Amino acid sequence: DESDWGSVPCSTIGWLCDLGQITLPLCRQFWHVSDLHLDPTYHITGDHTKVCSSSKGANASNPGPFGDFFCDSPYQLILSAFKYMNESEQQVSFMIWTGDSPPHIPVEELSTKMVINVIGNMTSTIQSFFPDLQVFPALGNHDYWPQDQLPVSASEVYSAVANFWKPWLTDEAISTFKKGGFYTQLFQSNVSPQPLRIISLNTNLYYSPNHVTLNITDPANQLAWLESTLEISLQKKEKVYVIGHVPIGYLPFARNTTAIRGYYNEKLVKIFRKYSDVIAGQFFGHTHRDSIMILLDEKENPINSLFVAPAVTPVKSVLQRESNNPGVRLYQYDPLQYSLLDLWQFYLNLTDANMKNESNWKLEYILTKAYGIEDLKPENLYEMTKQFAVPHSKLFQQYYNNFIVSYDKSIVCEGYCKTSQICAMQYLDYSFYTDCIQRG
Ligand SMILES: [Zn+2]
Ligand SMILES: [Zn+2]
Repeated sequence: DESDWGSVPCSTIGWLCDLGQITLPLCRQFWHVSDLHLDPTYHITGDHTKVCSSSKGANASNPGPFGDFFCDSPYQLILSAFKYMNESEQQVSFMIWTGDSPPHIPVEELSTKMVINVIGNMTSTIQSFFPDLQVFPALGNHDYWPQDQLPVSASEVYSAVANFWKPWLTDEAISTFKKGGFYTQLFQSNVSPQPLRIISLNTNLYYSPNHVTLNITDPANQLAWLESTLEISLQKKEKVYVIGHVPIGYLPFARNTTAIRGYYNEKLVKIFRKYSDVIAGQFFGHTHRDSIMILLDEKENPINSLFVAPAVTPVKSVLQRESNNPGVRLYQYDPLQYSLLDLWQFYLNLTDANMKNESNWKLEYILTKAYGIEDLKPENLYEMTKQFAVPHSKLFQQYYNNFIVSYDKSIVCEGYCKTSQICAMQYLDYSFYTDCIQRG
């Protein structure tokens, strides 16, 4: 029974290194949550056009206590996610939170004050469930007003959010965050002699709809800062997790479309290739879907694993066929080298939860088990995508079902859809990606 996971995932999968009498737990865990998108207007009412502002006048489809696929998250949905994580009593080292707290509503229905309020509310919600947990947050494109227009210097939002996040971040991190919305901070485990470095990027500065950064070569000098931070890490033999909201690479559900501007994407791919030995993992959100990317070097050797976590919000627009069930995830890593061992994806079947008036969050899949690989190393993930590429691959069908967080098992992705998915997983830069699409 997949939902029976009372024991610690680390040990159930068998990363307990049994050295005679001594059992060393060579496995640690961390949570990843993303895209909460609280809609404070959500309420059950007979007039389905008025259930939530985020449906923008459209009829909610099947509104219940935990939300609706045409609406952003009711507070009750967000509470149910954190309550589940908390009650699972997983031993975790930290949590990463990759942004987007405010709802998808017209710009004139929000304000700087409201955006700050929502981020503050989500911060205290997390703190109330996990008062002693180290959280590493990143800003999303909706964590600003007007949305997407994150600035390259100090702002009211950066400053207010820095204050909310003071319990989690060092003075140095707070200082760079106030200037550009990004920071770096060390995480010291009690197992490894070497700390883990978190680099939280403000990739919203590179997001295509951000007009503020048009024609700026290096917005807020973040690229130069990133390179020098990675260079120091290399010299100190540190390992790094890169976190951010808008991912690099190509959108898996579109064609020839990078999430960030192409120019910045090429720059970032170059930096990440150069420092791939230092970077042990990259974690993003924003697309609201569950996807994987593998960074290859110029000779097509897999050198980095990248993960996009699905959203907590189930929202979709009336034009979209697919949405996602709400999801949160748990990663397992080796605390000595910080290499990624596995990922446990949890989800809420929204339709079922509304019907039963009960938030029965459960395990959706375990990555290594679902796809039959040993761990999350780039070479294993790359081999996995080659298996996916085989015509009529059942594994790919499984991947696609996970991509939409079990939203609808009857939806299949073949032909054009599948090529877009596979090319986006394997190729992050323009020339390789374009070749892949042309090969079909
Ligand atoms: Zn989002
Ligand atoms: Zn976003």
